Amino acid sequence: MPSAGRLSEILQMNIYASPPTEELLEFLEDDEAAEPQSSCNKWKVLVVDDDAQVHQATAFALNRATVCGRQLELLHAYSANEARVLLEGRSDIAVILLDVVMERHDAGLGLVRVIREDLGLADARIILRTGQPGYAPELSVIRDYDINDYRTKSELTHTRLITTLTAAIRSYEQICAMHANRRGLEFLIETGNQLFVPRSMRDFADVALKHLSTLLGHPLDAVFCGPIDQGGAPGDQEGLGVLAATGRYCDFAGQSLDELSDVPLCRSLRGGLAHQGHTFHGEGCCLYLGRVHGKEALVHLKLPMSVHDQTRRMIEVLCVNLKVGFENVILFERLNFFAYFDPLTRLPNRTRFLDSLDDRLKTSHGTGWTLGIIDIVRFSELNDALGHRSGDLLLVEVTHRLQAHVGPNALVARVAGDAFGICWQPDENGARSILDVFSAPFVVRSHSIPMRARAGFVDVEPVSGGAVELLKRANLALSHAKQEGDQHWRFFTREMEATTQSRVQLLNELRSALHLGEGLELHYQPQVSPIGQQVVGCEALIRWMKPHGEMVAPDVFIPLAEYTGLIVEIGDWVFAEACQQIVRWDKEGLPHFRVGINISAAQFREPDFVSKIAGVIESTGVSPARLELEITESVAMEDPESVARQLRELKSLGLRVAVDDFGCGFSSLGSLNRLPFDRVKIDRAFVRELTPETSQDCIARMIVKLAKSLGLEVTAEGVETEVQARLLDEMGCKEMQGFLYGRPMNADALMGWIMARSLPL
Ligand code: C2E
Ligand code: MG
Ligand code: MG
Repeated sequence: MPSAGRLSEILQMNIYASPPTEELLEFLEDDEAAEPQSSCNKWKVLVVDDDAQVHQATAFALNRATVCGRQLELLHAYSANEARVLLEGRSDIAVILLDVVMERHDAGLGLVRVIREDLGLADARIILRTGQPGYAPELSVIRDYDINDYRTKSELTHTRLITTLTAAIRSYEQICAMHANRRGLEFLIETGNQLFVPRSMRDFADVALKHLSTLLGHPLDAVFCGPIDQGGAPGDQEGLGVLAATGRYCDFAGQSLDELSDVPLCRSLRGGLAHQGHTFHGEGCCLYLGRVHGKEALVHLKLPMSVHDQTRRMIEVLCVNLKVGFENVILFERLNFFAYFDPLTRLPNRTRFLDSLDDRLKTSHGTGWTLGIIDIVRFSELNDALGHRSGDLLLVEVTHRLQAHVGPNALVARVAGDAFGICWQPDENGARSILDVFSAPFVVRSHSIPMRARAGFVDVEPVSGGAVELLKRANLALSHAKQEGDQHWRFFTREMEATTQSRVQLLNELRSALHLGEGLELHYQPQVSPIGQQVVGCEALIRWMKPHGEMVAPDVFIPLAEYTGLIVEIGDWVFAEACQQIVRWDKEGLPHFRVGINISAAQFREPDFVSKIAGVIESTGVSPARLELEITESVAMEDPESVARQLRELKSLGLRVAVDDFGCGFSSLGSLNRLPFDRVKIDRAFVRELTPETSQDCIARMIVKLAKSLGLEVTAEGVETEVQARLLDEMGCKEMQGFLYGRPMNADALMGWIMARSLPL
């Protein structure tokens, strides 16, 4: 710094044309009070001059000057070369006060070219100064090299220097802002897609704040406030909380909006929520990202008081992208929820349950853990009786009870409409105690509903096939428990698996027997009227002999075929075969007896069942009056209206219909009235019980009475003794089928049987 005496000397030397004016002195005095600013906040002004005194005078004149709210920092170079070295690698020089004549008469102009072209510094403003007016550059140079001003040194009074510098700095600031905005726009375009990558709200919050900070070019004090996960279903009103925070707000991350202690921050966020739009205020701004499916998100940013309009617009443009990104994440979260959770109970679904189970198997190997499937007994009936809303409430209540029983570390999932999957560590009462949650009745809409369940369990252990295999085993255990009745449970055992495997093998063999047309045969069991000793009919009963001669009983393979749906094909084969056999017997001259054919529920479910029957009758030419379809009550119960319609159609073709195994199963006497039956077949269980002592109040007697009152014919099944036959005859049952008369036999044998007895027909 020059001394005051030396300074006045310099001033007198007319480097500046006039001595400091009062204006400048005032300016300098004002500045005494100015707070010192950090270097990075100051405007950098480079003085390039080969005259040291000019440097000193400039420094003196600009000492503590403030332009556009910021102080100045002078840098000095004493030759064009030195300036070039200094400028290399710097992009923060706002203004260059450049002497034209230095080492050469045009060294300054040469440096201008270097600055603009070689160093690529386009933003820095350049003010040329020269002592000699004759060295003024060409206008074209001023234009081409973007020179702000050209002044002779004598022209630059103190005041003039300040105003010229102020204009140059303003221009520099605008150029910088323009460039920043252009970069911002490029950034918005380039990075827009990145906002669509996050799949969780938390990741999105981080990315959003990172983008805002990159856009504004500096670290931010910012808060992203969004829906905090409270385990609710999508669409639920959720709490708001801080999902991401940077800078001075860092510590608020994870807090709910209600917990926030920073009053201005709270005010800003609540203002944004109330306004549902962007708000700019003293502390900064609150950017509202919208409301999607009841969820809202907003960002609070702390900004300098004087935010440039263009910066503001840029933020608003970024917000358009942020809004779309936010919507995207919400939609993704919803999709994710519906793919992996049950919206009613909010429990994981089967897929998610299996994933979680696999994770657990990987980490803990599951020691001490049990996997259970809990199946609610007759839930669908309950649903139909009480209405679906009550059914829903019931499931929710079951969920709560199960969760309370197994504790928070357990996995509870809804693996089917009426079945729950649970993976937990049972207490000393064992896994079976899970069924205790069903001991007390459930109260739904002021109804007290007793409910029962069954369970299948398996020990959780690493197995090949992982969670899927474990769930399969629990299911297998459950199906065994179901056979035992309500409130029963079973643990998986290896034997269960063996049974299943042999069932699967049996089914495959049955399928190929059917397709190859080998091994399946119809046997016929005679039905007689003992009074007249007449054959009145027979029942067609399927027989399956495996290739190596082993007979498989229908009681074994029919339920299996029913379970898998193969019974439809089998039923078609049986019906066609029976019809063809009747035609063959007719040709042999046998009497025209009736043939009973068993029909399964699955066949009635086929939409073209009746037309298939009609087709076979037509193609074989059999008389429909010879055919009697046997259906069990459970078939009739399944979909009474549809079954009734089909039975009427069948009867209009001329067929007859018998209700088989009457008295056991569902025993809905009402079905006898509603459905167009011709005959009742008394189940052999009631015939077996018949003794002279019990015959007075036995079920068989009741059934016969009921059938007679409804005008139906009656056949007793499983008649094995003369006593049974006599008692049945006394009751009024005139037709019988059983080992007493004949076992099921093949078609030729039946023909021989009829001939041998030469029963009158
Ligand atoms: P179902 O329709 O009740 O057939 C009568 C069953 O009782 C036959 O058993 C028959 O052999 C047996 N039975 C007849 N008289 C006596 C007797 O005096 N004592 C004893 N203990 N049993 C007697 P089967 O042939 O083993 O058939 C069992 C069941 O398999 C049938 O019961 C029927 O439900 C089903 N079934 C048989 N063939 C077919 C078929 O072609 N289609 C369908 N859907 N089911 C069939
Ligand atoms: Mg039958
Ligand atoms: Mg029967």
